[in-house]
Amino acid sequence: MSSSDILTGRYYRDGGSEYLEAELHHIGEALYIVLAGSRQKIHVQLESLADRLGNVPRKIYFTGDSVFECSDNDAVDAFFKQNDHFFSRLTRLEGSLKFVVIATVATIICLFGLYRYGLPAAASWAASVTPAGVVEAMDSSTRKTVDKLLFSETKLSKARQDELTAIFDELVQISGQTNPPMTLNFRDGGKLGANAIALPGGTIILTDQLEALADNDDELAGVLAHEIGHVEGKHSLRQLYRAFGMAFMIGVIGGDSGQIVEDVVAQAALLDTFSYSRAFETESDIHSVEVMIKAGRDPMAFVDLLDKILKAHNIDPENSDTGWLSSHPGNKDRRASVQAQIDKIKADQQ
Ligand SMILES: [Zn+2]
Repeated sequence: MSSSDILTGRYYRDGGSEYLEAELHHIGEALYIVLAGSRQKIHVQLESLADRLGNVPRKIYFTGDSVFECSDNDAVDAFFKQNDHFFSRLTRLEGSLKFVVIATVATIICLFGLYRYGLPAAASWAASVTPAGVVEAMDSSTRKTVDKLLFSETKLSKARQDELTAIFDELVQISGQTNPPMTLNFRDGGKLGANAIALPGGTIILTDQLEALADNDDELAGVLAHEIGHVEGKHSLRQLYRAFGMAFMIGVIGGDSGQIVEDVVAQAALLDTFSYSRAFETESDIHSVEVMIKAGRDPMAFVDLLDKILKAHNIDPENSDTGWLSSHPGNKDRRASVQAQIDKIKADQQ
């Protein structure tokens, strides 16, 4: 047995001030206290080792409150350096900066994963189980709000409204979208101008200004098919739940969810009803292309209409914060991805 296998010091049996002269031995994988003048071995389980602090005698803590104290710091270091398997893996890892860094990065990755995948998945699930009555109520209250704040009554003729409604009904039928039932509403867009909005409960609002901007019905049909895609994919509901989840997550991390929840939900209620993430846009574009091809209409036409909206608003789509435009991808990318989708469907048909 080498000298670094034995430490000489004081043994505090119950963590109190009374001690016995003793030695700490390690035999194989185990630690034992051997009291002076005795051959009895007391098996002890290492809990932790105090940090080295000048000449202060080192304390070695065992499970069950007993402590061994040794004033030979070098000997203590040598004892544990040679026998570092006494430390459980975690105890050793916790002590190292490397572990702390790894743990922090892992936590961030977990949180990011939760944000990136967990939250959308939870939001999709919540959207799928939201009762029809709830989305209907959301639609009617949102409609009331936008009618009060943004829109006024349509100036489109009854005949024109009927024409567009017929096109809309056909697109809905091709989409196979029945729940929630879809309805097309016409409004003077007012401040919002040329625009189209899909509410979670199946209400689509088309503004007079968008109708005026379109050169043909295929352009409008493409936008309507896109909006139907938003309802079918429950995009605004998922967005709303995601905002709820975000607020909750921020609250958990920050430790106070009260005010944040209120702020974010207040923002989300207004913003997320109108804005969708780009992934949702792409999904709805694909939906539009599929439905338009089935309807025998030009699937690219709606991108032409979007170009005209941008010109009409004189807004850079990358730097705007006005409703529909802000949330929709840049039109150059969009045209390319819509064309790719058209090519793909045509290739599949052959
Ligand atoms: Zn959209």
